Amino acid sequence: MSTPLILRDPASARRWTLEHQASARRVALVPTMGALHRGHLALVDVARSHADHVIVSIFVNPTQFNRAEDFDSYPRVIDDDLAICAEHGVDAVYLPAAEAMYPSGFDTRIEPGSIASRWEGEHRAGHFSGVATVVIKLLNACAPDVAVFGAKDLQQLTVIRRTVTDLDLGVDIVAGDTIRESDGLAMSSRNRRLDSVARQRALAIHRGLLAAVACANAGHGPDAIERAARDLIDPAADDVEYVAVVDSATFERSPTMIDGCGYSVIVAAWFGGVRLIDNMALPRSA
Ligand code: AMP
Repeated sequence: MSTPLILRDPASARRWTLEHQASARRVALVPTMGALHRGHLALVDVARSHADHVIVSIFVNPTQFNRAEDFDSYPRVIDDDLAICAEHGVDAVYLPAAEAMYPSGFDTRIEPGSIASRWEGEHRAGHFSGVATVVIKLLNACAPDVAVFGAKDLQQLTVIRRTVTDLDLGVDIVAGDTIRESDGLAMSSRNRRLDSVARQRALAIHRGLLAAVACANAGHGPDAIERAARDLIDPAADDVEYVAVVDSATFERSPTMIDGCGYSVIVAAWFGGVRLIDNMALPRSA
C-alpha cells in the first residue's frame, strides 16, 4: 500500500499527468466529491483498466449545489478518503482548495443545453452549469486521456459526454455501472445522512425500478412503466420529484418506445430529509 501523491493546484496536477504521458503512459481521472464508497472504487477499477495511472479528484464543488444546507451538510471525511485511495492503489489525488478552483475574479460558467434543462436541471437550478464548469476545469487541470463517471448519475454522465464532445476536449468519457448495497440501495455519499427508518423506506426506489423493468419486459409503454414504479415509490417517499421514462440520449420523456432505441427510467425522491436519485436502463425490445 503506497500513499497517493497529493496535488493541490491545477499546475501541479497537469505537470504530474504530462510527465506520465511523456513516457507514453496513459492517465485516467475519476472525479468525485469525496466520502468515498464502493461505487467510487468501482470507477477506480474501470479507470485502471483504461490507463497506467489513476488520479482521483476530491472537491465538494459549491457551484453545483442549489441549496446551501445540502452543501453544508455534504459529508467531508478527507482522512478516510485518502486512506481508502491508498488501500486501493490510487496513484494521485487532486485535492484543490476552493481558492485554487475559484480564485477571486473567477467569472466563467459553462452552460450546457437542452439535456441539462430537464429533470435534475429543472429541480436543481444551476446544477448542471456548476457540474459542467467544474468538470471542464478538472479535465483541463488533470489533462487525462480518459475520465470515468458513474451511470448512477445518468443525466450528469449524458450532459458531460455532450459537453466534452461539443467543446472538442478530446478526452474519452467512460461509464461505470451503478454499484448497489446488497439490498439494492444505490451507493451514494448522501446515504450516510439517512437514518435507519428512512434508509429502509428508500429501498422502495430499487423495488420501483425493478417493477418498471418488469413492466417494460411485459411489453407495456411509458405510462404503465412509470405507474408501476410509482406504486412502490410514492407511498414510501416523503416527496417524489419525478419518475420518468426517458430517451437515454436526450433525456426527453418518451410517450412511446421505439424498438431498438435506448430508454431509462429515472427517479428523484426524498426520504427523511435526504434527496436520492437512481435510474435503470429499460430492456430494448429489438
Ligand atoms: P460524487 O462523489 O457523488 O459526485 O460521485 C462521483 C462519481 O461517482 C460520479 O461519476 C458518480 O456518478 C459516481 N458514483 C456515485 N455513486 C455511484 C454508484 N453507486 N455506483 C457507481 N458510480 C457512482
